[in-house]
Amino acid sequence: MALVAVDVGHSLAHSGAVSARGLPEFRFNQQLAQAVASTLQSHNLGALLIGARGDAESLAQRTAVATAAGADLLLSVHHDSVQPRYLQSWTVDGQAWRVSDRFSGFSLLISRRNPDPEHSLACAQAIGAALRAAGQHPSLHHAEPIQGESRPLVDPMNGIYWFDDLVVLKTASSPAVLLEAGIIVNRADELQLRDPQRQARMAAAVADGVQRCLTVLFRARPVP
Ligand SMILES: [Zn+2]
Repeated sequence: MALVAVDVGHSLAHSGAVSARGLPEFRFNQQLAQAVASTLQSHNLGALLIGARGDAESLAQRTAVATAAGADLLLSVHHDSVQPRYLQSWTVDGQAWRVSDRFSGFSLLISRRNPDPEHSLACAQAIGAALRAAGQHPSLHHAEPIQGESRPLVDPMNGIYWFDDLVVLKTASSPAVLLEAGIIVNRADELQLRDPQRQARMAAAVADGVQRCLTVLFRARPVP
C-alpha cells in the first residue's frame, strides 16, 4: 500500500504565523493535515501524520520518521502569511492583530535539492489542479520581486514555486511538496480556512491530487 507522510507544520512551542484573529498557524495546520490523512485512509491509502501532537521541533527528525516508515511522498501542511510591509493593525475585542487583505489563495513549494524534483513537481501539479477544480485559487505573492519573496515560479497556473532550501523538502528521501493552504492574515480567508466544512472540501481536493500523483509515481517505478 502506498504511504503518504503528512507533516503538520510547526509546533505548539513554535506555532508559525498568527492569523488575523490571533490563532496560531499550527492549529490550522493540525486540523487540515488530520483531515487530509483521514481522507487518504478512507481511499485505502496509508497516511502517517508527523508532528500532529505539536511536539516535533526538529525538521530533519520529521523527514527521518518519513524515511524510516518508507513514505512514498511527503506532504507538509502549512498556512501562509505575507511580508511585514503589507501588515496593518486592526482590533478585535480590544486586542490588536496584524492583517493584510492584499493577497489570497494557496501556494505549493518544491525543492531542486530534493532527490526527486521531477516527481515533486508532478505531485505539486496534481495537487494544484485538484485544488483549482475544487474552486480554490493560487496566490502568486511569493514571486513578487521584493525582500523576502522573489521565489521562482515554476507553474503560475498551479501556484508552484521552487524553494530549494526548505529543510523538510530537501532532506526528504521521497518526492516532497509543501502546501501553503491559504493566507491566514487575510481576514476573509481566515474565516474560510477555519470553517470545518471548507477544510473537509480542501482535504478532499488535496487527497484527490495526492492519489493522482501516486499513480504517476508508481507508473514511473522500475518493475523489480
Ligand atoms: Zn508555516
